[in-house]
Amino acid sequence: MQDLLSEIAEAASANPDKGKVASYIPELAGIDPDQFGIAIAMADGRVFSAGDADVPFSIQSVSKVFALALALGRVGDEIWQRVGREPSGLSFDSILLLERENGIPRNPFINAGALVTTDTYLSGSSPREALGELLRFVRAAADDDSIHMNEKVAKSEIATGHRNFSLAHYLASHGNMRASVDKVLGTYCHQCAVEMTCRQLALAGRFLVDAPAMPGLVSIERRRRINALMMTCGHYDGSGDFAFRVGMPGKSGVGGGILVISPGRAAIAVWSPGLNRYGNSKLGTEAMELFAHRTGWSVFGVPHPGRGIDV
Ligand code: GLU
Repeated sequence: MQDLLSEIAEAASANPDKGKVASYIPELAGIDPDQFGIAIAMADGRVFSAGDADVPFSIQSVSKVFALALALGRVGDEIWQRVGREPSGLSFDSILLLERENGIPRNPFINAGALVTTDTYLSGSSPREALGELLRFVRAAADDDSIHMNEKVAKSEIATGHRNFSLAHYLASHGNMRASVDKVLGTYCHQCAVEMTCRQLALAGRFLVDAPAMPGLVSIERRRRINALMMTCGHYDGSGDFAFRVGMPGKSGVGGGILVISPGRAAIAVWSPGLNRYGNSKLGTEAMELFAHRTGWSVFGVPHPGRGIDV
């Protein structure tokens, strides 16, 4: 496994086409695209990593996975009255379907849906309390109390997040927003501004790996459902492509991170800030494609004897 990760990191560094760093959040625009990290937290407790696996990055939309787990913890299946479970086929910040579908976002991983999950775990608390709860969840999942939010990134997004404000106002106009738009946006942007290294993110992702020694933060049924949504909706309009190429549930963020789950086996975090045309990490996606090919890991089949690596 260590050799494979090192080989993947080397291939990524040697690739001249690193994709394009997201520039719509000014604080993220200046990040050096020439960085790549990968880490894997195995079901048996071993952790392997390569490249810039200990460099912190902004997890951005990967946080939507933790937010969904919190929202489900708060209201259970009632959440599905306010947000759907279908891929949108549109970009992460699209407003198009909201009008046609009466303010019910397609899924919890596009921005509109994530604003609803944030509003849900925020309900009845102050933003400070809600964010405290989110951080406690992420820290417990990763078993690491040093995980924090980057205030500058959050402020930078709040100052320029006109589209997200529009989405929240639109949701509010349909009665699908309980707290004030300002409160929800403040909480959402701080949630997205959580920083983690690949190693920390892989460890935090263990709660979605169906294996006995993993942190039991959510029930088996919820774990499976969150994984299903990651597979169908975790990469926006590139979700089908990611499922086709990688064959494992994953959630991306515009910071260039991707959390991938191999049920029963491991949680994998990969990061490279340059994005592809869907807004997902370009080298991260390519690295996961190579990883899946070499290991034979896929939720759609089992590795064949003599193919894939023995871990
Ligand atoms: N904070 C970002 C936004 O709302 C998250 C998007 C993403 O990571 O895909 O625009």
